[in-house]
Amino acid sequence: MTPVLELDQVSKQYGEFSALKGISLKLDEGKIMGLLGHNGAGKTTTMKLVLGVISPSQGRVHMFGASPTGPEADTLRRNMGYLPENVSFYNQLSGREVLTYFGKLKGVSAAAQVDLFDRVGLSHAADRRVKTYSKGMRQRLGLAQALLGYPKLLMLDEPTAGLDPTATHEFYEMLIELRKQGTSVLISSHVLPGIEKYIDSIAILGGGNLLAVGTPDELGQNAQLPLVVRVKGDWPDTDWQSQFAQQDVSLLHVNGQHLELSTPLHNKLQVMRTLLAEPAVEDIDLIPPSLDDLYGHYNQQVSSAT
Ligand code: ATP
Repeated sequence: MTPVLELDQVSKQYGEFSALKGISLKLDEGKIMGLLGHNGAGKTTTMKLVLGVISPSQGRVHMFGASPTGPEADTLRRNMGYLPENVSFYNQLSGREVLTYFGKLKGVSAAAQVDLFDRVGLSHAADRRVKTYSKGMRQRLGLAQALLGYPKLLMLDEPTAGLDPTATHEFYEMLIELRKQGTSVLISSHVLPGIEKYIDSIAILGGGNLLAVGTPDELGQNAQLPLVVRVKGDWPDTDWQSQFAQQDVSLLHVNGQHLELSTPLHNKLQVMRTLLAEPAVEDIDLIPPSLDDLYGHYNQQVSSAT
């Protein structure tokens, strides 16, 4: 099946400066990809290339198998929705008026907009002026605007910046619903905590390079970051140091009721066997590396290589 979006060895040069250096990415139908990176990593440049606002200096960008700057650009644009960072609306207009305005720009009839407020959970406020909206409500209106014409690809630039954790969670839940209907989503973000629950794959950009791409599990496997194990129980006399003497384990915290250690992933079963052999152990939590840890790991790799 043709990917919804494909970047093949894409570079973008501004004079002597390389904003993107040979990036290859693929996004399939009904998948959500997080495009993560520090300021200046190349996220917006990538979005602009997909939007067809700029052309690659080298390589190929394809959306539904065609170039966003080629003869099919208009058709492609109608199949794409975009929520820019810092979206602003006319505050004096109601949400409905804003949507009608953007609908006209995109050539979408009013009849085709009726359920959009429902889809983004804003029907109760559709006729209120935008100036009365909270930040979360504005982002919902922004998403409704991006959904005009029921695009198959959604591009969201930092959509949850400035949202509180509840509004962020609600925003992502809406994306999960859209994904179920087959929409593909590319989200750029540098707000990492919690995002891994909602995305199918991650692309980490740094200094214009693609540092890593894959599912969160694939990135975790490749990075081989240690697993943290937290243990509870009651063992006044257990000498954990000698219990783990022959294993590649670091004890992070030990007292009579708590033990925290870190171990390479390949050592997990051996550590579990040692722990389960101790009758005083009451509870064990395995804490895999977080997206933050992975992000730090891949970024560190590039800084130590330069
Ligand atoms: P942020 O999170 O700050 O928005 P970003 O990852 O979106 O960052 P980009 O906006 O893609 O980063 O910029 C990548 C690099 O390309 C930056 O160093 C930026 O200064 C540079 N750049 C972007 N547009 C141009 C341009 N038109 N001319 C020259 N350099 C540019």
